[in-house]
Amino acid sequence: MITFLDLYKINQRFRNEFQSAFSKALDDSHFILGENVSKFESEFADYCDTKHCVGTANGLDALTLILRGYIQLGKLKKGDKVIVPANTFIATILSVLHAELVPVLVEPNPETYNLSADTVKEHLQDDVKAVVMVHLYGQLADVKDLNQLTEEYNLLLIEDAAQAHGASSDIGRAGNISHAAAFSFYPSKNLGALGDGGAITTNDSDLNKVVRLLRNYGSEKKYQNEVVGYNSRLDDMQAAFLSVKLKSLDEDNQRRRTIANQYLDGIKNSKIRLPFYNGSDNHVFYAFVVEVDNRDNFVQFLNKNTIQSLIHYPIPPHQQKALSEFSYLKLPLTEKIHKRIISLPISPVMTDKEVQTVIDVLNTY
Ligand SMILES: *Cc1c(COP(=O)(O)O)cnc(C)c1O
Repeated sequence: MITFLDLYKINQRFRNEFQSAFSKALDDSHFILGENVSKFESEFADYCDTKHCVGTANGLDALTLILRGYIQLGKLKKGDKVIVPANTFIATILSVLHAELVPVLVEPNPETYNLSADTVKEHLQDDVKAVVMVHLYGQLADVKDLNQLTEEYNLLLIEDAAQAHGASSDIGRAGNISHAAAFSFYPSKNLGALGDGGAITTNDSDLNKVVRLLRNYGSEKKYQNEVVGYNSRLDDMQAAFLSVKLKSLDEDNQRRRTIANQYLDGIKNSKIRLPFYNGSDNHVFYAFVVEVDNRDNFVQFLNKNTIQSLIHYPIPPHQQKALSEFSYLKLPLTEKIHKRIISLPISPVMTDKEVQTVIDVLNTY
């Protein structure tokens, strides 16, 4: 069987280092916002080339705290509209709702699955105040043009970089190509913890200050609360594990790109639409997403050949029961994408032989 993502194998590579990190953390017994968190924050800020990094409990909270932080700073106010891609993972949209802002769902570019500046521009009503670009499946959105557009209209630009740790372009790396970025360290992500985790990166010192307060009960000094805060801290033990894994992130991303290139060169089947990739480091292949006409049929075929697959994501957010207030929207591109997409196995621990098996099997479909 070819597993979709072998988390056991991924993490076994670091077993010894994890165990010494665990022992050290247990001996130090500084479990909340200890040295491991500040160490990882400084390493991840360096990695993303940003001034600041603030660890949070997860990626959803990282997004929500950025938006809440801008409200606290007076740059956003309750009811302001925020553009998000309609085909994102639901967390992007939930963060906007949790911050009491109004999401405006915009169709993606069907080639890249990401927001493009042209379509965003068509939706810039007066009260749109921010854009959250998602680097979906690990590929950077239209970052140059979106930066230009949001600058021209004086809007906040935020990255949902939960799937794009390490992706880079000539204008910068994921985490450093907007006013503030949110990362997730959910175990399956390119940089995944052994549990939940998240982070905010930014060059904005005011935002850095306010999200640091917000994640910790609004408090910098113990028992002195300056703002109405949350409890959303990156766990100290997870931070120690993330420091171990960060060292291998670039190499892991490179391995994912190599596999993606093998798929792109090797899969030759007119019934399978392969993803767009410009060959640069702007993609870290969190997912390798193909499109087919009859997905049920294709999944059955993969199952029969013992190749695991996954759908990112089977139901578009505006058709989820939780978001029924958006069910009136007609988003034909998004709806079509969600019917056709399917993700093939890809991970840094996949062997060349496994990759070749997937290619050979797909060429007989
Ligand atoms: C994983 C993910 C999130 C949320 O991250 P959590 O850590 O699970 O809260 C947000 N946005 C996108 C695009 C994601 O893939």
